[in-house]
Amino acid sequence: MFEKILIANRGEIALRIQRACRTMGIKTVAVHSTADAEAKYVKLADESVCIGPAPAAQSYLNIPAIISAAEVTDSQAIHPGYGFLSENADFAERVEKSGFVFIGPRPETIRLMGDKVSAKNAMKKAGVPCVPGSDGALPEDIDEIKKIAKQIGYPIIIKASGGGGGRGMRVVHTEAALSNAVVMTRNEAQAAFGNPVVYAEKFLENPRHIEFQLLIDEHGNAVHLGERDCSLQRRHQKILEEAPAPGITEKMRNKIGERCADACRRIKYRGVGTFEFLFENDEFYFIEMNTRLQVEHPVTEWITGIDLVQAQIKVAAHEALTIRQKDINIKGHAIECRINAEDPYKLTPSAGRITQYHIPGGPGVRVDSHVYHNYMVPPHYDSMIGKVITYGDTREQAIARMRIALTETVIEGIKTNIPLHLDLLADSSFLHGSLAIHYLEQKLALHNKKD
Ligand code: ADP
Repeated sequence: MFEKILIANRGEIALRIQRACRTMGIKTVAVHSTADAEAKYVKLADESVCIGPAPAAQSYLNIPAIISAAEVTDSQAIHPGYGFLSENADFAERVEKSGFVFIGPRPETIRLMGDKVSAKNAMKKAGVPCVPGSDGALPEDIDEIKKIAKQIGYPIIIKASGGGGGRGMRVVHTEAALSNAVVMTRNEAQAAFGNPVVYAEKFLENPRHIEFQLLIDEHGNAVHLGERDCSLQRRHQKILEEAPAPGITEKMRNKIGERCADACRRIKYRGVGTFEFLFENDEFYFIEMNTRLQVEHPVTEWITGIDLVQAQIKVAAHEALTIRQKDINIKGHAIECRINAEDPYKLTPSAGRITQYHIPGGPGVRVDSHVYHNYMVPPHYDSMIGKVITYGDTREQAIARMRIALTETVIEGIKTNIPLHLDLLADSSFLHGSLAIHYLEQKLALHNKKD
């Protein structure tokens, strides 16, 4: 096992990884920007290194500074967390070439899954159901493209192979709009991702977002840990997640989960990974794979009893999984509310000092957050300041506990989205479950219209 791990991230996930390391008796190195110098997890780390000024491009995305920090501290491995450099194949390669272990999949795997056309091809081969669409990249010839679009059937969505973060996509409803949409998406893709390749898919009008958690070692063992429902999103960003997904039967779970596990074995995946699907009319359609830990991993941890961060570290240290699929037992229900420093309905960020802070507790409540009384929320990064996760024997109990937990929570001095969560937790459609991905945007639009 490693003696020292460098955590190349910030905020709640830096603290989460640090906790896993401390539980395992591993020393930690926190790297931080000048804006995060006072953070509690930085002080709690065995060592800390300032890697640059506040803007992420000069600190948390600064590859040479992070590698140097690993060198001067004699770290053995680097955990990238989520976001920042976590899905950057070049970073993973640089880490390994510099003699450190990258806690994540092999750089080639990150590259394969980062390109959506190659990812989809790999999944099709493994029998994972995909959204019907073009067979790989769209050709140059517009008449050919028209033929492909007609076969798929309108509406279709043109997507950039190198796209990410909800960018590089365009919905096309008619043949008249096709040519223009392809040209524009190609140009944008070239400018934003340096890759003009685009492909076409059937546009699903009202799907849910359901994703599967996988865990794989280097010895050919792959297990799935069930699914999460992450349909409540605004601007393609998730805000409330739950596991298991309402209405998904054990049979469906096992069928899709097994296909994902099989795909992982084929591509020699290692570590944790998430298969994202759109789910409509009882069918799953693969859209992409995330080759890292997800923000919403705690809901899966709670219903399976598996610590995903510790598992990630063990796999990176070449250990074999000790659990098999038959040992995985999904029990109860877990919900996560992402707490963002922002206006709950207008979504504008709200940085600043937290003047009052009280976190909830009690049975079935977990809080993953790096903030505290008097903490200054910096304006430079993502607005998420923590996550409240609740567990119950049933979905109803998990929801009831979440409602109590959020009404106990006090965060003053900045705005948070807690009022929006409380609104959702009382929403009859949410209570019924199985909402589609557009529900929250529609609800927000309705609220803002009333204002
Ligand atoms: P990104 O890597 O940018 O997150 P994804 O392929 O995961 O891109 O898609 C992001 C979001 O775009 C999905 O969660 C969904 O809301 C929408 N989307 C993508 N493909 C389709 C599709 N075929 N039909 C309907 N919506 C889609």
